[in-house]
Amino acid sequence: MAWFRKEKKPRQPRRERLEIPPDVWEKCEACGHTDIREKFVRNLNVCPECDFHRRIRALEYANILLDDGSVEETEVDIRSTDPLGFPEYSARLKKATTTAGEGDAILTVTGMLTAMPVNLAVMDFAFMGGSMGSVVGEKIARLGQRSLEKKYPLIIISASGGARMQEGVLSLMQMAKASAVLAQLAERRIPYISILTNPTTGGVSASYAMLGDAILAEPGAVIGFAGPRVIKQTIGQELPEGFQTAEFLLDHGMVDSVVHRRQLKPTVGQLLRHMTGKPAAAGWTSP
Ligand SMILES: [Zn+2]
Repeated sequence: MAWFRKEKKPRQPRRERLEIPPDVWEKCEACGHTDIREKFVRNLNVCPECDFHRRIRALEYANILLDDGSVEETEVDIRSTDPLGFPEYSARLKKATTTAGEGDAILTVTGMLTAMPVNLAVMDFAFMGGSMGSVVGEKIARLGQRSLEKKYPLIIISASGGARMQEGVLSLMQMAKASAVLAQLAERRIPYISILTNPTTGGVSASYAMLGDAILAEPGAVIGFAGPRVIKQTIGQELPEGFQTAEFLLDHGMVDSVVHRRQLKPTVGQLLRHMTGKPAAAGWTSP
């Protein structure tokens, strides 16, 4: 499962290795740095040149955060229907399922994080822009319920353009449903950590993404409710430089910390141990 963490085996340099086929090259979207894919992957898909955090799939985040071999998927059988008969929604769902997988725009798993049991939900932007419909809300609610039952901390990694318009008001209701289960966790003093990645916008930012006991964000992530053009038109003012980035939100008290992808696991582990009063993990050192 943790395919991208595979240890490099020392290899003898061979002449033919110089001939790298063209399809293994990848280019950084931010700075244009070109490198072989493996090098990006080994660096958790953070550009080795400019530190740009590239978008990755939900399962990759689960593998970054959780201990090797501990990841177990939950809520596997929930599927989107087309409750409103929205034009072309069924076809789009079918296409997304084929290209991005059957789990809709969120992956929910249970596993160990630095030897601590946790529940983790990761949104998947590859599935219809990470849009939040009934399945996303239901999976979060059920995973939250598991956290209530077992007293496991909950972690949600967000990547979303917002509510899924094809499910209309049913999408908006997921904001309340997710918030309700988070309130129950708060009452029971079970920690919830929210991690914001690029982008976290719309209804997701207006509900569970901003309700964490601790809110972390990846460097450079775009985080906001409405887009800058809409805000500009509404308030009739120029927007400040860097508006709606993780760093801007940190400066204005909306997020608690901007954390490099490589530091996510130790940071979350440390936070959870602090919140639950557990001693530091044995042998844990900062990488
Ligand atoms: Zn770059």
